[in-house]
Amino acid sequence: MLGQMMTQPLLISSLMAHAERYHAGGEIVSVNTSGSVENTTWGQVGSNARRLASALGKLGLSAHDRCGTIAWNNRRHLEIYFGAPGGGFVCHTINPRLFPEQLVYILNHAEDKVLFIDKTFVPLVAAIRDKLEHLDHIVLMEAEVSDAADALPGIIAYDDLLATGDADYRWPDLDENCASSLCYTSGTTGNPKGVLYSHRSTVLHSFGSNLADSIGFSAMDVALMVVPMFHVNAWGSPYACAMVGARLVLPGPGLDGASLVGLIDDHKVTVALGVPTIWLGLLGAAKAAKSSLASLNRTVVGGSACPPSMIAAFRDTYDVEVIHAWGMTEMSPLGTVNQPLAKHRDLPTEDMHKLRENQGRAVYGVELEIWDDDGKPLPQDGKAQGDLMTRGHWILDAYFRSTSEETLTNGWFDTGDVATMDADGYITIKDRSKDIIKSGGEWISSVELENIAIAHPDLADAAVIGAKHPKWDERPVLVAVKAEGTQPSEAEVLAIFEGKIAKWQLPDKVVFTDVLPRNATGKVLKRNLRDQFGDVLMG
Ligand code: AMP
Repeated sequence: MLGQMMTQPLLISSLMAHAERYHAGGEIVSVNTSGSVENTTWGQVGSNARRLASALGKLGLSAHDRCGTIAWNNRRHLEIYFGAPGGGFVCHTINPRLFPEQLVYILNHAEDKVLFIDKTFVPLVAAIRDKLEHLDHIVLMEAEVSDAADALPGIIAYDDLLATGDADYRWPDLDENCASSLCYTSGTTGNPKGVLYSHRSTVLHSFGSNLADSIGFSAMDVALMVVPMFHVNAWGSPYACAMVGARLVLPGPGLDGASLVGLIDDHKVTVALGVPTIWLGLLGAAKAAKSSLASLNRTVVGGSACPPSMIAAFRDTYDVEVIHAWGMTEMSPLGTVNQPLAKHRDLPTEDMHKLRENQGRAVYGVELEIWDDDGKPLPQDGKAQGDLMTRGHWILDAYFRSTSEETLTNGWFDTGDVATMDADGYITIKDRSKDIIKSGGEWISSVELENIAIAHPDLADAAVIGAKHPKWDERPVLVAVKAEGTQPSEAEVLAIFEGKIAKWQLPDKVVFTDVLPRNATGKVLKRNLRDQFGDVLMG
């Protein structure tokens, strides 16, 4: 024998054990569903998470049983994030914005045995309770059940459940490859598909998130988790923050700009994570409240392309760095992060700003390639665009109840995104492959046009679709929502594109609408827009 290193399983409980031991006093601020603010600590959350794991065992759950959650970002949800997987069960977060039929499908497909809900969702669950085939218990995430028992007889109060758990429960030794959490993707067609994460993939993803050139949470941070805990494990941030003992602010149901500005200023938030639409609201509210967002030094923006105008607004008005990141549910979600390299240190300011706009480079642990239609890798020249393929430590191998053969292509996962990659590995997402506009054999990126349009002060929202065209097959049409109190004309809106793109890429038409249709995770439903406006160029 040569003599070697120890092998310890990479378990989610080890993240919590570390936080409990070394950051027991680390503060966690939680806005409850009623709006009241609760202060707790990693030590208290850790102790409750162990109690919860013990209580779930006593409730009769077996290894790998799924525990569903329909809940906001709050302290009890955080305890379930650690307690359920730590005890050998699976934390299955569910998006409350799904249609009731989708909720029923997901809960039955996952075979959830226990469902934890915030009181906001009592009516939602009461309406579908009879259709949930495997559900044994519903737990209300409150101290008492109060009148929720009228709508959902037999409902248990979270705090009563916790009281049945042992205070001196010790985390079990588990296989690091066993399942820890489950999220369903809210695709725009067909039934949602389950993505099952393991303890190992989650811990490795946390290491990846915490690299200095990635998000890099630290014990000095106060992290505002705006990204919902029902969306890809809040981008894995609860686990990554436990790993380093970062303090947390959990905003509860109030995600409007004014509430978020209040939380940032009151709790001296240093880093905040969320999708671009949330930050639009926050920027407006910060201006109205005359806040300088003094404590905030960076925001992590992903989920959709971050418009360059938003990066500039954060930088120029608030001295806040935007870290643009790309990923997806199937990738836990972290794929790429935009951070500069040593060789960029002396770049002229304008060039440095430009560099920070794209989706960034692969984090260690994620491999990326761009393929042509025949599955051949394309050059990394920043120009060739093709299907963005990935594999790595925290990338999906097979959808829940599916096989690798059905899910992968030659061992790679097709992200469904079309991108370019430059010599340093920086990627630019051009589109979802089904949304890219194919005009007379040339491809036009809807993302690029949207980034320009959204900078127009008279537009509140914008999306670009490929509309049918008698000569060019497809041409870009801009679907725009006017900002309150403004009346921009089509010509005024189109003027913003002048000099920024080639003439042949200009949208052929602007149509105005009241609101853009979005799916449960806030992504624009372009298929619906194509149904509505796809024929506007056909005469
Ligand atoms: P989801 O699984 O719901 O998180 O959606 C993942 C998809 O969101 C990706 O495949 C991309 O199409 C899109 N996406 C995520 N982050 C970005 C980003 N920074 N820029 C452009 N698209 C993004």
